[in-house]
Amino acid sequence: MTRTLLSLLPDEHRGRVTGYLTLTVASTLLRAVAVVLVVPLVSALFGEDPAGAWPWVAVLTGVVAAGWIVDSIASRIGFDLGFAILDHAQRDIAAQVARTPLRWFTADNSATARRAIATTGPDLVGLVGYLVTPLIQAVLLPIVIGLALLPIAWQLGVVALVAVPLLLGALWATEKLTRRAGAVAAESNSALTERVLEFARTQAALRAARRVEPARSQAGAAVAAQHGATLRLLALHVPGQVLFSLASQLVLLALAGTTTWLAVRGTIGVPEAIALIVVVVRYLEPFAALGDLAPATATTRAALRDIRAVLDAPGRARFDDRPDTAGRDSSVEFRGVHFRYEDDSSSDDDSSGGTTVLEGLDLVFESGRTTAVVGPSGSGKSTLLALVAGLEEPTSGSVLVGGVDRAALDPSERSADTSVVFQQPYLFAGNIRENVRAGNPGADAEQVDSVLRLARVQDFAGRLPAGLDTVVGEAGGALSGGERQRVSIARALLKPSAVLLVDEGTSALDAENEAAVVDAITDDPRRRTRIVVTHRLSTIAGADRVLFLDGGRIVEDGTVDELLAAEGRFAEFWRHQHDAAGWRITADPTGVSR
Ligand code: ADP
Ligand code: MG
Repeated sequence: MTRTLLSLLPDEHRGRVTGYLTLTVASTLLRAVAVVLVVPLVSALFGEDPAGAWPWVAVLTGVVAAGWIVDSIASRIGFDLGFAILDHAQRDIAAQVARTPLRWFTADNSATARRAIATTGPDLVGLVGYLVTPLIQAVLLPIVIGLALLPIAWQLGVVALVAVPLLLGALWATEKLTRRAGAVAAESNSALTERVLEFARTQAALRAARRVEPARSQAGAAVAAQHGATLRLLALHVPGQVLFSLASQLVLLALAGTTTWLAVRGTIGVPEAIALIVVVVRYLEPFAALGDLAPATATTRAALRDIRAVLDAPGRARFDDRPDTAGRDSSVEFRGVHFRYEDDSSSDDDSSGGTTVLEGLDLVFESGRTTAVVGPSGSGKSTLLALVAGLEEPTSGSVLVGGVDRAALDPSERSADTSVVFQQPYLFAGNIRENVRAGNPGADAEQVDSVLRLARVQDFAGRLPAGLDTVVGEAGGALSGGERQRVSIARALLKPSAVLLVDEGTSALDAENEAAVVDAITDDPRRRTRIVVTHRLSTIAGADRVLFLDGGRIVEDGTVDELLAAEGRFAEFWRHQHDAAGWRITADPTGVSR
């Protein structure tokens, strides 16, 4: 319990714990002194000069006032700590819930999470003030009173000190017995409920078999078990209750007996004896208070257990925490992937109603390389990217990223590995900067600047009156298509993902936008596996590999030079594009120039 409590406390508050503990101990000491001061006060009162009691009254007043001041400071710190624990717990739970794989949320675990969040409020804030402080005081006060009694009447002090562990032991045993009895009773109760329900459900069968007498069924056995458990509950509960009150009566008798014996022997005067009886009663009070705290302690322990259970749920590494993707395997692999769109469109080639796009695709995109995917409209290029991004799942076969089957991950984990630039770039309501930052909210200003430069967002933002603060609606009305694409590329580049997927589709971009997109992809310093769907020669020229797709099959696969030399579909496509855009092939090392 203490461990969970301390783990929930933010580091910057650790120092205040020492302050809080010191003040609580000081306040307990002052209380003990106030209790023991009754002895000289009463002795003076019954002495020759009752007026001699005044100075003791003054001292008592001073001690009580000091105790009150220390107490209020300690409880202020206590509540501050309570709020700090609450803030921290709520933040931690929220963060944990967000990164816990969905499969963790079984009915039981969801209920635990709900309880953990619901009970964190008042329970945690009051925890220190209403629970920890009284606990410390209840244990410490009797010990300090016992010690203070030693110089007054050492025999009494010894009895008081010896009684402390005895009484605490009795309290502990009481708690333990009651809790065990409660657990046994709860268990047999739920067993009984289940058996009775079963008995009711199986009536038809039982009647057919003429076995309807409850006594002969399992329900009968459960009733008997529950009966036994109730008896055991009483058998455990009663001694539990009796144990502590018996112990405290015995201690009271021992203390009162010792006081009387000392008075009879003349070791202490009668006034002292009376005062000591008062002290003895006050000495026993904290134990009773401790007994009253037991239910609150149990509730708090349960709340902390729920919180612990949520925080210990199997999370995954937060993507933002990963320094870089360098050195990680970020290969993408298709293994016998079949894919069909299950829809109601009737005009399709497939007899069973859907559109079959891929039929057993085997393909590896090596880690860190850039592949251009080219092919006629409807050949399955966008579908290929959707499968890598985890937006679609294969009908059969598997897609692996970094050697991990996408099917084994939940949607949030899948989206963490991939940055996607869609054919129709989607911009959130907000300004340009916010749209870019959405790629990695944890990025620093330098990283944001760098991707803004790479995607050449700064070039056109500089011409807008509000610059990067220009608000772009969901439709992104303030920006041209190419500019919107540059914003979404900057966002994708900022995200520290292992795989970058770009679908340029058939978007027609002006020369500046086209150059920006190419540069962004080729100059991105992060080691990633890039798959770019494009028809633009400038993008294709920058790729390590070209795939020519038709009808969901790879018809050509190789470097630009290899495919051009093969004089196949790609070469034909290239010539066509080249004629349309006024490109020509030269002896230039990149193979192309304008
Ligand atoms: P490309 O990006 O190469 O143009 P797509 O992957 O978008 O090709 O589409 C491949 C095939 O799947 C096409 O025949 C297309 O009509 C069909 N298709 C694409 N998206 C859907 C969808 N959401 N529902 C049904 N069929 C779809
Ligand atoms: Mg497409």
